[in-house]
Amino acid sequence: MNIMQHNILDDEDDVNFQSFSHGLFIGGKWVEGGSGRQIRVIDPSTEAVISAVPDATADDALAAVEAAAAAAKGWRKTPPRKRSDILRRCYELMIERAEMLAMLISLENGKALRDARGEVAYAAEFFRWNSEEAVRIIGDFGIAPSGSNHIIVEYQPIGVCVLITPWNFPAAMAARKIAPALAAGCTVILKPATETPLTAYALAALYKEAGVPDGVVNVITTTTPGPVTNAMLNDPRVRKLSFTGSTAVGRTLLAEASKTVLSCSMELGGNAPLIVFDDANLEPAVEGAMVAKMRNAGAACTAANRLYVQAGIYPRFVDALTRRMEALCVGPGTDPATECGPMITAKAVAKIDGLVKDAVSRGAKVLCGGEKPSVRGFFYPPTVLVDVPADAAMAHEEIFGPVAAITRFDTEEEVIDKANDTEYGLAAYVFTKDISRGMEVSRRIEAGMVALNRGLVSDPAAPFGGMKHSGLGREGGSHGVLEFTEPQYLALGR
Ligand code: NAD
Repeated sequence: MNIMQHNILDDEDDVNFQSFSHGLFIGGKWVEGGSGRQIRVIDPSTEAVISAVPDATADDALAAVEAAAAAAKGWRKTPPRKRSDILRRCYELMIERAEMLAMLISLENGKALRDARGEVAYAAEFFRWNSEEAVRIIGDFGIAPSGSNHIIVEYQPIGVCVLITPWNFPAAMAARKIAPALAAGCTVILKPATETPLTAYALAALYKEAGVPDGVVNVITTTTPGPVTNAMLNDPRVRKLSFTGSTAVGRTLLAEASKTVLSCSMELGGNAPLIVFDDANLEPAVEGAMVAKMRNAGAACTAANRLYVQAGIYPRFVDALTRRMEALCVGPGTDPATECGPMITAKAVAKIDGLVKDAVSRGAKVLCGGEKPSVRGFFYPPTVLVDVPADAAMAHEEIFGPVAAITRFDTEEEVIDKANDTEYGLAAYVFTKDISRGMEVSRRIEAGMVALNRGLVSDPAAPFGGMKHSGLGREGGSHGVLEFTEPQYLALGR
């Protein structure tokens, strides 16, 4: 594997990345935090420390709840059109600063700049979409069947929300929560992942500039997410938890949230099947598989984790996909030529390496990649494995890396059973020229989102979310904003 390496900070000295670490963002101000400790932010491409942010304590978290609660009354009363205009301004500023934001995401997350640019556009779109939703949160009005009263339903803002996000989409996962929460009239405390805090703080400054009032959005970072989050979840002023991350952490948070019967939205892990039928067009299927597998170097909850290819097209598909994977340019995310950046940490590389070794020990064959390189930076090469057996760990766990695990199948029934043989149910991909078969197969797959003849499902205008252990609730579309509301029913006597 040939990895391009250089220190991008030398090339980009017009962008001062240090300037994004002012402190915790509470009540519209940058504050130091009570612990006096700092969290080092690492560039995964070079392993160099690029910045540091404060390590919040439970008291800092409660100060953020206080700020969000203090701002709640004013924000809830702010006319929807005004809220809409502010969200629209957030969108415009994100688009104006897209290149700087993309560079920052690439730097702290490692993803290829082209993926980071896509992420900024996707994140900004949540603000545009929800600026439009803010003025269309329409209730219901009807007459009771008895005729005795009117039934009026109003969607009220749910209140103060705790938002927790992962490192793999540092702008988009936060935007997918903040924009609808603000549209609904809620105030929020965001706790981003410790690996990628700079994007969250840069965006907090941008929201303030766009006119988001102090206290409406608060951001804290911590190395002790358990106690810090629990302090917030057990505060009676908090009414909602919206979490994106692993199923394991989601389960822990659901247990904690049960103590205060907190409303929860959960966007959790995935194990997406990608099915290619014999009649699929080869080139679009390979292209779709590359997008579904390699966006973010495979570190996406929607990433194709298991590729099932029908026997008739199998040799041609495997050959074409392997050539595409081998040709990918691996390097630092911030280099515009990079197509596959590093993983987030050394631990993530070790996990991927372990999954590949496990599959090989059970009979899988490596067609390309498969060896952890000895270089600086958390790199793992694009890898293709064939004949991955059903008992391999990677058939059941998220790989979260650039490894395409391919298995041959014969019949439709067989592949549907295989696709559903997982506790997860987030995304799935189906490739076939026969649209009616494609739609029928899609309906039988237990996944919240199915892409038919395409490699991308995410769209701010569509409901994103999972079945089974992949989550609760939906983000995006008209569903997203309702997650941050409580329907109140008024019985009005006639
Ligand atoms: P993670 O679950 O380890 O961490 C997610 C967030 O939870 C981070 O901010 C982390 O600091 C925080 N956290 C960890 N332990 C906590 C605790 N005890 N209490 C409160 N917060 C805690 O996940 P990750 O490694 O950052 O992200 C990868 C995972 O996220 C994958 O499983 C991926 O599938 C999932 N994901 C899901 C979606 C989706 O929309 N369904 C989107 C992106 C990522």
